Amino acid sequence: MSEKTIAFIGAGNMTRSIISGLINSGYNPNKIIASNPSVGKLDSLRADLNIKTTQNNHQAVKEADVVVLAVKPQLMEGVCQDLASQQALDGKLFVSIAAGINHARLLEMLGGQYDLVRTMPNTPSLLSKGMTGLYAPDSMSSENKKLVEHMMASVGDTLWVTKESDIDIVIATAGSSPAYFFLFLESMQNHAVELGMSKQDSRKLVQQAMLGAAEMVCHNDHLEIGELRAQVTSKGGTTAQAVESFQASDLQSIVAKAMDAAISRAQQMS
Ligand code: NAP
Repeated sequence: MSEKTIAFIGAGNMTRSIISGLINSGYNPNKIIASNPSVGKLDSLRADLNIKTTQNNHQAVKEADVVVLAVKPQLMEGVCQDLASQQALDGKLFVSIAAGINHARLLEMLGGQYDLVRTMPNTPSLLSKGMTGLYAPDSMSSENKKLVEHMMASVGDTLWVTKESDIDIVIATAGSSPAYFFLFLESMQNHAVELGMSKQDSRKLVQQAMLGAAEMVCHNDHLEIGELRAQVTSKGGTTAQAVESFQASDLQSIVAKAMDAAISRAQQMS
């Protein structure tokens, strides 16, 4: 892996987090090049992470074995077509981190049958606590699959899906879900404030409770999440009252409806 030169096309938030993760895990910064139209992001990436930078996508791709397509989805077609029109792309391994553009469509944009892994990271990647779903066709070599897995594992955990449509489930379950948890915390914080607590104190309470609950789930993977809930819910106690209130409002169907909305948006975009 460390022999490969990786080019990032687009030097935004996700690129910064993946490159930081790679370098923290020992990747040689001389083997990383980022390309971006505006120079400010490149200057700070070069200063902070000591990687190579360019404003020229073609230059970055020319040097690279692996090309990470990290522009916004609406710019992807123009960027890919421009790359394909200027140089031979044979032998390069492509990685897309863009939401909502499927594998076949990406290859069509690139104009050839290249090795390409579609990935779906999420924002906690910025803290190396990300969750990335990956999809590649069966025909791709396990060496290339391992290489991309290793790259994304530098910013968190990874999960391969065997059906491309499952990437939409990854989007609804992990890609978009940090915002669901923020919304839940925000609602709890708002009500604690309504009840008379300060914003600062209520934030401390909700964030630590969330962190503790997440750690309990992660450290007890022999237990179903529902069992963990049952363990902390004494019959007739305060927690039981709150849980019953959520269930009376059919929290399960509220969550299902929201996830289905995320999936249908992903399907519209592809
Ligand atoms: P971002 O911060 O806006 O980064 C995109 C970068 O692309 C910007 O720095 C932009 O430069 C650059 N760019 C624009 N036109 C370009 C071109 N022609 N050639 C090269 N670079 C160009 O966005 P992001 O959050 O990192 O997202 C990048 C991709 O990751 C998107 O496809 C998104 O769907 C996907 N993704 C993001 C998240 C997330 O939570 N952020 C999660 C999963 C997937 P300027 O700003 O200088 O114009």
